[in-house]
Amino acid sequence: MTDCLFCKICEGKIPATISYRDDDVVAFKDIGPKAPLHELVIPTRHIASLSEATPEDAALLGKLMIVAGQQARAAGFAESGFRVVINAGPDAGQSVAHLHLHLLAGRALGWPPG
Ligand code: AMP
Ligand code: ZN
Repeated sequence: MTDCLFCKICEGKIPATISYRDDDVVAFKDIGPKAPLHELVIPTRHIASLSEATPEDAALLGKLMIVAGQQARAAGFAESGFRVVINAGPDAGQSVAHLHLHLLAGRALGWPPG
């Protein structure tokens, strides 16, 4: 997608601190971290929202989850814990229309979320 911030990060047209990359998935530091570890894990293929994912995307969505868990473990948070969040739509506060998992760790995370 030409006018998508996260597509541009995948394509290297906008700088980001990339922590993981393969053909299907990119992980990078969130520019406004809400926890000591705050990474975004995204598909390289543009999917606007979780609400637009289809059964054909099942393997890709599973891969996003696996990468999030591996990133949490690699950063040393497998034991202390971490959270994976997907905001979808306005009430959830989704501000970038390219599906992304938030990986949060490094502090106690309140529940329920706000
Ligand atoms: P959401 O509000 O769930 O759509 O999350 C979007 C996230 O993208 C927010 O946590 C922002 O801080 C983050 N973000 C926005 N622009 C950038 C950027 N250029 N690089 C890294 N993270 C970004
Ligand atoms: Zn995109």
